[in-house]
Amino acid sequence: MATIAMKFGGTSVADIERIRHVATLVKREVERGNQVAVVVSAMAGETNKLVAWTNEAAHGGNNLAIPDQREYDVVVAAGEQITAGLLAITLNAMGVKARSWLGWQVPINTSAVHGSARIEGVPATDMKRAIENGEVAVVAGFQGVAPGTRISTLGRGGSDTSAVAVAAGIGAARCDIYTDVDGVYTTDPRIVPKARRLEKIAYEEMLEMASLGAKVLQTRSVEIAMLHRVPTRVLSTFTPDVGGTLLCDEEDIVEKKPVTGIAYSRDEAKITLHKVPDRPGVSAAIFGPLADAGVNVDMIVQNVSEDGETTDLTFTCTRGELTRALAAIETHAKDIQYRAVTHTADVAKVSIIGIGMRAHPGVAQLMFRTLADKGINIEVISTSEIKVSVLIAEEYVELAVRALHSAYELDAA
Ligand code: ADP
Ligand code: ASP
Ligand code: MG
Repeated sequence: MATIAMKFGGTSVADIERIRHVATLVKREVERGNQVAVVVSAMAGETNKLVAWTNEAAHGGNNLAIPDQREYDVVVAAGEQITAGLLAITLNAMGVKARSWLGWQVPINTSAVHGSARIEGVPATDMKRAIENGEVAVVAGFQGVAPGTRISTLGRGGSDTSAVAVAAGIGAARCDIYTDVDGVYTTDPRIVPKARRLEKIAYEEMLEMASLGAKVLQTRSVEIAMLHRVPTRVLSTFTPDVGGTLLCDEEDIVEKKPVTGIAYSRDEAKITLHKVPDRPGVSAAIFGPLADAGVNVDMIVQNVSEDGETTDLTFTCTRGELTRALAAIETHAKDIQYRAVTHTADVAKVSIIGIGMRAHPGVAQLMFRTLADKGINIEVISTSEIKVSVLIAEEYVELAVRALHSAYELDAA
């Protein structure tokens, strides 16, 4: 007998019929003699609807920051409460003893950063006892409790993180993430039909894939899986007995190709400051106020000064942070002394990822050549030990991902 955690995403619980199907998968694990905690997302589309309502209430629908993020969390956490209750009702109706657990009841303790809180601990004493007594625990994903007993949420896609944290908290033998694809692919199978499923992926690679845009797992869930050594698998709710991808240690991967996967993110915006003085302290004058405004600057490029006096500086952030970033720059215009500022959200980031890159020189060159052959201009480049990212015009994302997928010989036969 083992204790296991199972997680079902939005499309897996999209209606009552699918919830019933999910219940049969849970029942099957119980009948195998396992003790089970199930983590559920909101029904597909529900969270988007709730987010839109908060915007409408605050700004008549304009997509600005919600004045009080704590109330945003109260609203958007509601979708998971509904599915947790519905799955518990369905399981009981099938003769499987179950009860729902909301974030505050588990408790899933989080930081006070509402809207993107970090899980700080999952004591789960009562829940663990209930599981040991043979009751299935159905946990509402995505939500937790912040200091002061306020409801918090973990950022979009956060139910993955709830699942891995619950698995770690109850000492589960494994965490199975059920979704609408049967594993982690070399790239998003929705845009590259020739993408291949990976049997295994190293935690480090999955971490990069997730943080560079592959939304199959939330980045933080991979961090927790890696930190607490939770054996984590990605599986399909609809074909649960085939495929799957296991997250594992780098050493467990025998064949280390230079590139394992390709990720893309459309959630990018680019800001250029023209003719800023080329002297010490300028970067600090720019990035200090941005940090204070809570803007996460990602890629940065500073041009060589043509006249020795001024230079252009470009950086990227998420689209949601663009308005805040421009406001911070304008507020500090006097200190920064730029001549003009331009911005665009018509950009996207494409990244190649692979632990094999460490041992294979010249990996980036093939990326640049492939994009050049397609006539795609690279606006900004950033690299780390196991990834290369480029910023390109958004209209070329799919072309770029497909071309790179073929160039790195990732296409399925
Ligand atoms: P869930 O609602 O189950 O959490 P998500 O929509 O958040 O599901 O994540 C699954 C989706 O992630 C897939 O439908 C797929 O389009 C997308 N995806 C992006 N990159 C990858 C990848 N490399 N491998 C598998 N799926 C990916
Ligand atoms: N329902 C939340 C979202 O749509 C959390 C999740 O599904 O993981 O972002
Ligand atoms: Mg998800």
